[in-house]
Amino acid sequence: MKSSPEKITLIGAGLNGPLLAILLMQRGLSVEIYERRPDMRRIRMSAGRSINLALSTRGIYALQQAGLWERMRSIIIPMKGRMMHSIASELTFQPYGQNETEVINSISRAELNIALINAAEEHGATIHFNQRCTGYDLKTGSTRVRNEETGEETTLQAAVVIGCDGSASAIRGEMLKLSRFNFSQQYLDYGYKELTIPASSQGEHLLETHALHIWPRGNHMLIALPNIDGTFACILFLPFEGADSFASLTTHAQVIQFFESRFPDVVRLMPQLADNYFANPTGAMVTVKCSPWHVEGRALLLGDAVHAIVPFFGQGLNCGFEDCTCLVELLDRHGAEWAGVFAEFENERKVNTDAIADMAIENFAEMRDRVADSRFLLRKKVELALEAKYPRLFVPKYAMVTFHRIPYSVALARGTVQDRMLTELCESIYRMEDLDWSKADWLIRRDLTPLELRQ
Ligand SMILES: Cc1cc2nc3c(=O)[nH]c(=O)nc-3n(C[C@H](O)[C@H](O)[C@H](O)COP(=O)(O)OP(=O)(O)OC[C@H]3O[C@@H](n4cnc5c(N)ncnc54)[C@H](O)[C@@H]3O)c2cc1C
Repeated sequence: MKSSPEKITLIGAGLNGPLLAILLMQRGLSVEIYERRPDMRRIRMSAGRSINLALSTRGIYALQQAGLWERMRSIIIPMKGRMMHSIASELTFQPYGQNETEVINSISRAELNIALINAAEEHGATIHFNQRCTGYDLKTGSTRVRNEETGEETTLQAAVVIGCDGSASAIRGEMLKLSRFNFSQQYLDYGYKELTIPASSQGEHLLETHALHIWPRGNHMLIALPNIDGTFACILFLPFEGADSFASLTTHAQVIQFFESRFPDVVRLMPQLADNYFANPTGAMVTVKCSPWHVEGRALLLGDAVHAIVPFFGQGLNCGFEDCTCLVELLDRHGAEWAGVFAEFENERKVNTDAIADMAIENFAEMRDRVADSRFLLRKKVELALEAKYPRLFVPKYAMVTFHRIPYSVALARGTVQDRMLTELCESIYRMEDLDWSKADWLIRRDLTPLELRQ
């Protein structure tokens, strides 16, 4: 694409804003970012807001396109599978993929955000912190921002505004005024809270390092992801209301008693458990769907602003990063014909972001409940065996989403067909050795066509 003097304004310097800024500036565009929060490199993030993320193939591909992947390697920890902790403190390890290259990567949100902000500035982006977007004029394309420290209001004019301002997007809030703007938001009845397992006195991890730890307990769940400093970032998922809920755990003693009865092997590793529990906020989880994603060629929504999803497939960030690479690929193809590029972007992405939103909700039940079930574990073994034998025909849904860049909508559709097949193949067996391979061969060749695999 030819260099253009056009100025692009991005709202939000979370995870997608700075990455998109880099990709746009690599194409000769000039970018300014307005972020409502203070500069996180100077002011420590509030406790309980630094949740770790699982970075996988789609996110890594985007970081490679931006030339950032190599520098991220020093701040990630590969996780090879799920380590399930039973209530009797027994451990079961379930690999995510076929081999050690099929891993997901634990990364601290704060470290990733800082690395992206630094890189965006190195590429020449100007980032204005403490500047909250308070409005966007749908007709003139002007954006209002307010300085959060001084209260000063400014009106900005840019050729294009892109709302990367997260699940409560201010730009999307303005787009609600468009006639025939479709919008839905669906909250889970569950919330989440960040907790920590500190490092040992030698700075080492107190649980297996290269795993995502899960304590699946039916209607609640604890997970833990490793950090490079030897700590684990844990997330407790609980219903907001009812028995065993955030509402019912109101004293230090109740929290300790709850953990001792549900997660007995972890209590002794969390000396600050009750203090952390009450100090850290409880977050909500929402699925947002809307359309259109753009106002002609003047404004666009991207990332959580247009498709917030629940975190149970570990894909929100990966999906947002895929938005960024998709958008710049369209720019490379068509040039800065913004209205056409935005329309094609929405057309290409929405079917896929809707699909991952639905799969993420489905995966909640799998993580909190089914991973502890021996029938489910057998299905997972059968899936991996089928993939090993039919590598381009049968690829487990988890792998299609996590280790490949197969469109999410294809992963959803093929996943449904494969689920039916697995039910048929597994319903009357209890061991891998009893799998009916000739039936599997027949079903696979009948129902699946070869996949184009992109990593
Ligand atoms: C508990 C949890 C676990 C998760 N785990 C994973 C995971 O393992 N893997 C994964 O891929 N994804 C995960 N996600 C999802 C991931 O965090 C999001 O998809 C990702 O942060 C979205 O990036 P974003 O840039 O679109 O939005 P955000 O990261 O929310 O950034 C938005 C930015 O915009 C700023 N902003 C907001 N409003 C305004 C305004 N009016 N004016 C100016 N600035 C504004 C905000 O301050 C923020 O900096 C998880 C999410 C949660 C809640």
